[in-house]
Amino acid sequence: MGKVIAIANQKGGVGKTTTTINLAASLAALEFQTLIVDADPQANSTSGLGYNPKEIENSIYECMVEGVRPQDAIIQTDFPNLDLLPSHIDLVGAEIEMINLQNREDKMKNALDSIRDSYDFVIIDCSPSLGLITINSLTAADSVIIPVQCEYFALEGLGKLLNTIKIIQSRLNTNLSIEGILLTMYDLRVRLSNQVVGEVTSHFQQMVFNTIIPRNIRLSESPSFGVPALAQDADSKGAVSYLNLAREILIKNGLMPQEA
Ligand code: ADP
Ligand code: MG
Repeated sequence: MGKVIAIANQKGGVGKTTTTINLAASLAALEFQTLIVDADPQANSTSGLGYNPKEIENSIYECMVEGVRPQDAIIQTDFPNLDLLPSHIDLVGAEIEMINLQNREDKMKNALDSIRDSYDFVIIDCSPSLGLITINSLTAADSVIIPVQCEYFALEGLGKLLNTIKIIQSRLNTNLSIEGILLTMYDLRVRLSNQVVGEVTSHFQQMVFNTIIPRNIRLSESPSFGVPALAQDADSKGAVSYLNLAREILIKNGLMPQEA
């Protein structure tokens, strides 16, 4: 059964979507069957892989609210081993439409249960909120990756997120674990970047991934070409760093031997 990993942080612009696309593409390149679930109404993972959200007929929204089968919504991308369950703007309305439903926190989990056997990894790109869609994502997930930008106020909101995760662990999903905290947009030349790395690692210690994602132009421009950085420039620092993250996760999960 595939492992479901949510990429979550209610702060916007910390690298959730960049991590989703490039981690998923790296796992796919290492020949693990991988599905991206775009659970953000802004649909940046969908457009970042080259699909126009306005042209999407069936999205995660229809799967959660209207009972459409995920099989009928999933897109096979141009990249081997990489599929996408897309999003579109209607997902905004899902929060309101689901409010009176029974078991409204389980809708995504139920949708994904029918297809997770077909994948090694399912990576969920969460929206920048702690609303019902994100609660659904965390309820559906086995673990969560928290991207933290190496910038001012890096730790802001992290307490609230960790608290939300605790509540979900106790009430909705006892299975949920923290895969790791991921430092993103690191700039070697900026003293603040180094301070943030120091602060986050001393505070969260082994919860923090060894892999740190650098600030890299390929990572920021590849979505405009509708491809992961790996497909645009496999040797770029950005692509290599996400490949390293994929390896770190595979080793941690016993799916790849520890390198000597
Ligand atoms: P989120 O999904 O958390 O809102 P994004 O992944 O969309 O964050 O990243 C926010 C912005 O920063 C985007 O324009 C993205 O291209 C850029 N970005 C993210 N990670 C990097 C990086 N490592 N290097 C350079 N730009 C990045
Ligand atoms: Mg995003």
